[in-house]
Amino acid sequence: MTSLPWNDELNAALVERKAVGRYRFSRTRTGAQGTNIVVDDKSVLSFCSNDYLGLAANEEITQAFVRAAETEGVGSGAAHLLTGHSQYHHELELALADFLGQQRVLLFSTGYMANLAVIDGLLQRGDTVIQDKLNHASLLDGGRISAAEQLRYPHLDMASLSRRLESAATAEHKLIVSDGVFSMDGDLAPLPELMTLSQQHNAGLFIDDAHGLGVLGKTGRGLTEHFQIADDEQPIVMGTFGKAFGTAGAFIAADEVVIETLVQQARSYVYTTAQPAAVAAATLASLKIVQEQSWRREKLQALIAQFRLGAKQLGLTLMESFTPIQPVIIGDDQQALKIGQALEKQNILVGVIRPPTVPKNSARLRITLSAEHSETQVNQLLAALESVSAH
Ligand SMILES: *Cc1c(COP(=O)(O)O)cnc(C)c1O
Repeated sequence: MTSLPWNDELNAALVERKAVGRYRFSRTRTGAQGTNIVVDDKSVLSFCSNDYLGLAANEEITQAFVRAAETEGVGSGAAHLLTGHSQYHHELELALADFLGQQRVLLFSTGYMANLAVIDGLLQRGDTVIQDKLNHASLLDGGRISAAEQLRYPHLDMASLSRRLESAATAEHKLIVSDGVFSMDGDLAPLPELMTLSQQHNAGLFIDDAHGLGVLGKTGRGLTEHFQIADDEQPIVMGTFGKAFGTAGAFIAADEVVIETLVQQARSYVYTTAQPAAVAAATLASLKIVQEQSWRREKLQALIAQFRLGAKQLGLTLMESFTPIQPVIIGDDQQALKIGQALEKQNILVGVIRPPTVPKNSARLRITLSAEHSETQVNQLLAALESVSAH
């Protein structure tokens, strides 16, 4: 192997990253995703997956996947527009549109690509995209690859958003973009206010509901159901299957014209291989469970309440979140790492999130709950947090 001419610079950056406690690495899991998992040959109690409803290793979903793989094979073989689109993809798009009360749904291989598609596919030079500063990296990247002007507003600050919209008055078109549930904070976008501002300023609105879908609303329709938005007033919505749905892939739900525009010109739709049909079949099974088994959402809410009460009694710094994303703010990067490692010594795994994923001095434990957790497991977590004094 020849090394790159700028190998030394890269290496120095890696060393620096390690020194400041920002080095990332993945562990290797053996066996299924769940609350008790084996990583690097060690059994741990996990509070760091996005498998909020406990569906990632669900038996019915797995069976649907296997049955479809037996008839369809594994590979989809091509992009959607070139025979990659199977009957399962088709059926899933229809079922999701029906579930969400939106005109149409378009499947994508990942949420990352769906986000690029909307921002890059709907905006051009002369347009402006206005984003919450804490939006997911894929939304910010969508802005970067589009030729539209980029504006950002401080997290959830509607007065600032209003000023940005005014400053963008001469833009040809304006699109407001926000996470529905913020992935590192667990708080919600103020959807009714966003809708009002978008109407007042004649701007489009796009909500990334990766963490709300399946979790929020009585039937799991997500942020729009939580705020009881009428079907015909819904914004453009992105949802992922890799989180509460327990499978993989993503979709955009919108009206006919938006969806057809994406089909024609969204590069991350056109120029990529369709997801395996079996994944769509599995997601159909998952959609049924999401709709029918509301006990999963109820149990999740009970666990969230239990965790928050216990954490407050321990004096931990929580955030304004009633979603399964429950960050405990530590502040210092190294301190957060140390606490994460101390928890791991007790066989408890939580996410340790540091800049640049979150703002400086807000390193945190990202604790996520799942309907598969038990009350006992949450108590174990609280006891461990107490023993490592995470406050
Ligand atoms: C996970 C996530 C995505 C990306 O979805 P993938 O399907 O994993 O690519 C996009 N937005 C948010 C807010 C996310 O949390």
